[in-house]
Amino acid sequence: MNSVIRDLNLVLILSYTFYRFTDLPIYRFTDKPIHYPLFVIIVIYASLQMIKAKTSMKYTTFLLLLLIVQPVVAQEAIDNENKQAVIGSIENQSANLKKLSDEIWEHAEIAFKESQSSEALASYAEAQGFRVTRGVGEIPTAFTAEYGSGKPVVGILGEFDALPGLSQKTVPHKEPLIAGEPGHGCGHNLFGVASLGAATSIKELIESGEFGGTIRFYGTPAEEKFFGKLWMIRAGLFDDVDVVMDWHPSDETEANVQSSLALVDFLVEYHGQAAHASGDPWNGRSASDALELYTDGINMYREHIKPTVRIHYHIQDAGKVVNVVPDYSKIWTRVRDTRREGMQQVWDQVEKIAEGAAMMANVDYKITLISGIHEVLPNRTGGAALQKNLEALGTIDYTEQEKGFAKQIQLATDSDTVGIDMQINPMKETAEHPMGGSTDVGDVSFVAPTIRLGVTTAPKGTPWHSWAVVAAGGMSIGHKGMVYASKALALTMVDLFENPELIDDVKAEFYERKGDYVYEGMVPPGPPPLDFEQ
Ligand SMILES: [Zn+2]
Ligand SMILES: [Zn+2]
Repeated sequence: MNSVIRDLNLVLILSYTFYRFTDLPIYRFTDKPIHYPLFVIIVIYASLQMIKAKTSMKYTTFLLLLLIVQPVVAQEAIDNENKQAVIGSIENQSANLKKLSDEIWEHAEIAFKESQSSEALASYAEAQGFRVTRGVGEIPTAFTAEYGSGKPVVGILGEFDALPGLSQKTVPHKEPLIAGEPGHGCGHNLFGVASLGAATSIKELIESGEFGGTIRFYGTPAEEKFFGKLWMIRAGLFDDVDVVMDWHPSDETEANVQSSLALVDFLVEYHGQAAHASGDPWNGRSASDALELYTDGINMYREHIKPTVRIHYHIQDAGKVVNVVPDYSKIWTRVRDTRREGMQQVWDQVEKIAEGAAMMANVDYKITLISGIHEVLPNRTGGAALQKNLEALGTIDYTEQEKGFAKQIQLATDSDTVGIDMQINPMKETAEHPMGGSTDVGDVSFVAPTIRLGVTTAPKGTPWHSWAVVAAGGMSIGHKGMVYASKALALTMVDLFENPELIDDVKAEFYERKGDYVYEGMVPPGPPPLDFEQ
């Protein structure tokens, strides 16, 4: 009887301990703040049972030892001195980081026009002792900030561009700060700052000789339009980097191991013959007719494309007045798919439709590539390292006031009033065909292995690219996510600098996923479209 109770108790305790330290889904269940008190109760109960059953003291002592050992082991990640140092550094920087993110939030500058935001980040980096190179990749607002020398070279991305028309105050209802002006509807005011804070904490460790190598922050403009990273890659700025860290503001927190959609942007322009729309229309050849035939063709074609494909267009010019047959029209077209090869096929067909429309309307046409981006090459090895650090960091706590703010945003945007998602998601399976958007981080992920993070900076279910993201990103909900992201990125970079094997493993997965594909950026020759006519 004694041995039965003893064995049962052992099984109970060992299973619990096993679950506690594995990545099994049940981990999510046990990784609650109550887990340790619960564990203590189980151990005490088991010990009492064993004493009552007069089990050998050996086993009781073993259980009590587990009681002591477990919290020590559970804290191991943060007990690493370098990890404690980066957390300390980010906490010391946090007031400055919040100030910097608010400053960029207020500037709210759009693609390629982010001069003040870029300068704010570059000067912060310079003040911290980084070697800053401005205007890289032929883009005035792109820069790198580097510290240290030699291998490994760990890069970290920082975006800072805003979106047009989304100006918003930090209130939980739609109220523009300056009507019609841009706003940070994608949270990029937090993005660049968190990454730079993390880079700074690593720089301090290189400076004090804790480890060697190079930390390089990439100030990457124009993510929302044109995709600035393409020209930074073209300039060779990622050629020597071993691993790149990246994050994005979100409504949930997780190691992001999903791909994204590849896309291409191109302009179609039609040139016809102007004429009086009533007096002599037979002399006219309408560029606007061609444009309508083109969009009709695209919309017919939609029935025959795969569900993973997206086609959008934005008519930019379709004549100026009603009594003139328009001799000029212009339309911006975007084709996406979860795979570049799939996107290419649709792109080819859409170009044929553009040509067919020109023939039908008897006008000339011109197609101009703006730029295109690759889907993201995920990295689960890096994701797993990041995941461990998220779990060591634990969840983000919010005040009642912040929870109330979130619910008001949800009410105002007709979302479920579920508040803020404070949990850390388990690492998900990598979807074959992901839903969602695109990012020029995709191109970076094809030239260097890229570890990606998503952190809650806005209420759950907030419509993205909207005033609600601008509101949350300019106040404490956004700030908390930013500081948290900074810590998670820094902790993972400590892992990379301390363990060359981790870098090797991350690279091995990168080469395996990339196969023999030779990366080629989808950009036209010549300089980036800094003064693109819209
Ligand atoms: Zn974004
Ligand atoms: Zn965006």
